Amino acid sequence: MITIIGISKTYGKVKALDSLTLEIKQGEIFGLLGPNGAGKTTTVKILTTLTKPDSGKCFIDGKDVIGQPQDIKKIIGVVPQENNLERELTVYENLLIYGMLHNVSEIKKKIEFILKTMELTEKRETVVNKLSGGLQRRVLLARALLSEPKVLFLDEPSIGLDPHIRRELWQLIRKIKIEGRTVLLTTHYIEEAEALCDRVGILSHGSLIALGSPSELKKQVGEYVVEFIDKDGSLISEICHSREEAYEIAKRRNDGVTIRRSNLEDVFVKLTGERIIQTRINQ
Ligand code: ATP
Repeated sequence: MITIIGISKTYGKVKALDSLTLEIKQGEIFGLLGPNGAGKTTTVKILTTLTKPDSGKCFIDGKDVIGQPQDIKKIIGVVPQENNLERELTVYENLLIYGMLHNVSEIKKKIEFILKTMELTEKRETVVNKLSGGLQRRVLLARALLSEPKVLFLDEPSIGLDPHIRRELWQLIRKIKIEGRTVLLTTHYIEEAEALCDRVGILSHGSLIALGSPSELKKQVGEYVVEFIDKDGSLISEICHSREEAYEIAKRRNDGVTIRRSNLEDVFVKLTGERIIQTRINQ
């Protein structure tokens, strides 16, 4: 559904994307994961026709993103990082105006359906300003779905949301997948990628350093982590492939050793030596 072939993008001296190549299948939830500045938003901006790459090509549903931007806009929906709803207007008015601006057919019928799917029917006459951050994010999602996009882009969909609100949002994103749409999301949150994504691509300095399902990536790099405090007081994590190997490492250490299952953050650290960011949902 999405084909990216060797796209590069430079801002001044910063190489935001360095020959990125990636294929995203129809109907999958794909997560672009990486630390600040890895190139996630730049990738989304290029695919949603907001900016052009310096080189390379990309296609969505067979259409050339650079050569046919008007055709692309008809088949995509975008939930940006920043909330750009009309805050003085109601939920219903926001959807209606957006639908009219985008020539959505049978607009009123579609609004009713989407309000129901996104569990917003009771809030239809509420002014956006009066909604919580989580509900406003739901309205953004509902608005992006109005044009029945084949591909939905979500840039950091749950940033700043409370853990339980985040989980509710994940449920709604899963519903979108059930409808057969393709979802590309960017995220800093490891749990979000693990809970939601069929596959993830880990970006570092504009390049893809790992690609696969969360469980495949953990199998490749190591499914267990042994953690202990070093002599100088720093936390050391050693990733390994089997429980037996983990026990062997643990036996060689003193007290305070813990063994846990690896997560995508461990995969990232192993591959790059860097951390993504604080990623625990309960932090
Ligand atoms: P974040 O998680 O912080 O949103 P990201 O992975 O989305 O990061 P990008 O926003 O794509 O990363 O940025 C990639 C690099 O390009 C960064 O070094 C960023 O500072 C730089 N960059 C992005 N947009 C611009 C711009 N308009 N002008 C100059 N530099 C930019």
